Amino acid sequence: MAAPEPPSQVRYENLPDPETDASLPVVTITDFASGEAGKEVILLVAGEHARELITSEIVFWLGKLLSGKDDELADWTAIQTATAQAWKRGWAKGTLKEWAEELLGKVIFKIIPIENIQGRKAVEGGDLCLRKTTAGVDLNRNWEYAWIKGEEGSDEYGGPKPFSEPEARIVKLIAESTRPQAFVNLHSGEYAVYVPWDSKKGLAPDLPTDINDVLENLDAYCQCMHGAAGDVAGYLAFGSSMDYMYEKLHVKYPLTVEVYGPDGLGKTAMGGHPRRKLQAAGNSTAAKLLGAAADGKDSNAGDAGSRAMLPGKLAGGHRNESALVERRRAQESGSAGVTLATNQQQQAFRVHAGMQGQQGTSSEAAAAAGADGADAASLGRCLRDYNPMETEEYEKVVATWLASLLVLADHLAQHPAATSAAADAEQGQLPLPPTPPSKQELAA
Ligand SMILES: [Zn+2]
Repeated sequence: MAAPEPPSQVRYENLPDPETDASLPVVTITDFASGEAGKEVILLVAGEHARELITSEIVFWLGKLLSGKDDELADWTAIQTATAQAWKRGWAKGTLKEWAEELLGKVIFKIIPIENIQGRKAVEGGDLCLRKTTAGVDLNRNWEYAWIKGEEGSDEYGGPKPFSEPEARIVKLIAESTRPQAFVNLHSGEYAVYVPWDSKKGLAPDLPTDINDVLENLDAYCQCMHGAAGDVAGYLAFGSSMDYMYEKLHVKYPLTVEVYGPDGLGKTAMGGHPRRKLQAAGNSTAAKLLGAAADGKDSNAGDAGSRAMLPGKLAGGHRNESALVERRRAQESGSAGVTLATNQQQQAFRVHAGMQGQQGTSSEAAAAAGADGADAASLGRCLRDYNPMETEEYEKVVATWLASLLVLADHLAQHPAATSAAADAEQGQLPLPPTPPSKQELAA
């Protein structure tokens, strides 16, 4: 059966890795009738860390909204609240759909819905705590800026060399060919909006003067920690895509957004992140805790991977490798089956398999593939620490980031930089954008 015709604002491509047979689906959304030249490009990467399922959910709904299919969204209370906020701030006059429609005349969205596809499949198969690729590499530590190899078994292993992983290479190629004005790397584990540096303390010196306006505007929805990652997050990340996009590709607005944290972790009202407070305190207890983190203890709170060791309830949920291995063995022999989440939670957590309309049943698959006893509890904790489990919270998170991404696109539309980037490209300083693929290619 032929694939259904995509909406006219949407094009699909499968971008190959030049070195292997891997490829990544990329979605381009704009008003193609008004052309692509001179438009601002916003590159969104979701699903980089396997267990952060909610990031792909957000871009799935964004795709629906941008292509005018907002029937379901319009009924959500959270969407109505987000819309009212946009009116109040003078960003929109009508619905989010109308706002989006207007923006597509000036902005191109390039979306990678799931960067870590194999990892995502493993999570759907029950490996709910998996952050890295199935090859064991953290894709957000594999970039050639301030790269360090790290420990192979650690959750932040940078790979044998920079760009050793096809996924990172493909994202780099997309960025090089599309020259985005904004790059947004979506993660979860806390609420935050970060700009460079990741790999050192301080705000990167060449960020545009209006970067604080962008952060403040995004905060209208997030109401969370925001600023230079190395300062605000309380940990450093080496070989990250955000630092690379800023330093090597001169992306004007390089952002990492942390879209969800359990119990409002990272929200301003919750006092930001305990990790940050510990570090700021600088006392011996804090030093001890952070020192323990450096020893490679795993924490599931935040996106820090192995860096942070947190007090109290946040310190739980260590990934149990041997139990995972055992469970995988059980899966292979088809004998596993303990429920991880309640049925209500499973129903509430609606997981979609990418943007091509297939509806997945990931949490059910995960539950069916589950493990026993403490391991099941730990796995369930991973699901909960990175993903909203109740319908109301899920809708709130999605609405928050749909509106935030429109705010960012709106800012780009009002402060165009694409024209100067195009001029640079003509002078041969930068690679030119590729020609759009043919309809046959898109349908493939
Ligand atoms: Zn992450």
